[in-house]
Amino acid sequence: MTLDATLSRIDADMPAALDRLMALLRIPSISTDPAYKAECDRAADWLVADLASFGIAAEKRPTPGHPMVVGHVPGDGPHVLFYGHYDVQPVDPLTLWDRDPFDPAIEETPKGRVIRGRGASDDKGQLMTFVEACRAWKEVNGTLPCRITFFFEGEEESGSPSLIPFLKENAEELKADLALICDTGLFESRVPAIMTQLRGLLGEEITLTGPDKDLHSGMYGGAAINPIRVLAKILANLHDVAGRIQVPGFYDGVPDLPEDIAQQWQALNFDHGAFLGGVGLSQPAGETDKTPLEMIWSRPTAEVNGIIGGYTGDGFKTVLPSKASAKVSFRLVGQQDPHAIRESFRAWVQAQLPEDVTAEFHGHGASPAGQMSTEHPAFEQARAVLGAEWGHDAAFTGCGGSIPVAGYFKTILDMDTMLVGWAKDDDQIHSPNEKYDVESFQKGIRSWARVLDAIT
Ligand SMILES: [Zn+2]
Repeated sequence: MTLDATLSRIDADMPAALDRLMALLRIPSISTDPAYKAECDRAADWLVADLASFGIAAEKRPTPGHPMVVGHVPGDGPHVLFYGHYDVQPVDPLTLWDRDPFDPAIEETPKGRVIRGRGASDDKGQLMTFVEACRAWKEVNGTLPCRITFFFEGEEESGSPSLIPFLKENAEELKADLALICDTGLFESRVPAIMTQLRGLLGEEITLTGPDKDLHSGMYGGAAINPIRVLAKILANLHDVAGRIQVPGFYDGVPDLPEDIAQQWQALNFDHGAFLGGVGLSQPAGETDKTPLEMIWSRPTAEVNGIIGGYTGDGFKTVLPSKASAKVSFRLVGQQDPHAIRESFRAWVQAQLPEDVTAEFHGHGASPAGQMSTEHPAFEQARAVLGAEWGHDAAFTGCGGSIPVAGYFKTILDMDTMLVGWAKDDDQIHSPNEKYDVESFQKGIRSWARVLDAIT
């Protein structure tokens, strides 16, 4: 059978695949630091040459920043675009590394063999799992299983300044039936996870003004309104006793969790006691009728991130301040409209202001949630085969944060994205001593072979 032959080929080729990853890891492609511009270029060249080594024509494409690498393989069946990034985070502080971050090595650890070095997990190791799967497939079968576009970015760790213009300028060329991204991890380092829900974010800063100057509370206290008192009351009103957010219209566009997803999440056996215990807590603090996994993956939030007002220095000052302010952010899900919520939040605050207190608002970011459509059959096909590799049924999961490139693929190319990855919680990405398990690398390559087999 083709798949079995390809999987055997992957296993037999592991030493060479590890050597290739080591070579890529030795290139210090730190995108944010201009001193490494030539190294980013060299990493792009390396990828072009590596794809060419098994017959894939790819090219380095210039941008005002670091180059993109784009390669196309014609074929039948679905057209997939694979995205990964070849740039890495800076390595400071260097003194906390046990070895040179760009002199990678395989280390034996109590938890197994790991590849140690900057980019081992994020994202060079993950990117190469897909490349290696394609190499093995091509060597066994002579062709790839479907039409594939390779798309590698070199600015992901520095805010992707060239990505949106590049996608717009090359939309025709890059649009595929489905994007595959390998830049995420296993759930609890063990369960293969297809991330389908990414929360959005809205930031607001409120400043309330009462008296036109700071006052002495002995002289004015009692008669003059204190804006901190007003602010505290408004912030306390954000949630009701059941944890629901009180801003009118806030839940418009929040979907119910589909029954099949609820069952998948149930099967994950999420240990919220350990999750909260790890930060010195014991009780979930969200909506009382939701599970802790729902709270972090599929439910919106309102959080006060900072409060400023009055005298906060050493000692004591009986000030009755003129101003008080707070920074408030909302994590958004489903179809929640950040702009509508911003308007509603401001009106809701205004409506609670007493006489003599005024509010000013300053908006910060507003990004909607990324709700991946899982209608493309590849989602269920991939979920069905990943379990065979990892020994645990795969699940469609959520993520508290966001992955902007998946959003751009949707808005600019109208292309859905399947986010799968093999990173573990202790990979220390962005930190000293980053590693990637050899097991993740090997099973990751095998997983892509299975996914490509299943979706074509
Ligand atoms: Zn990454």
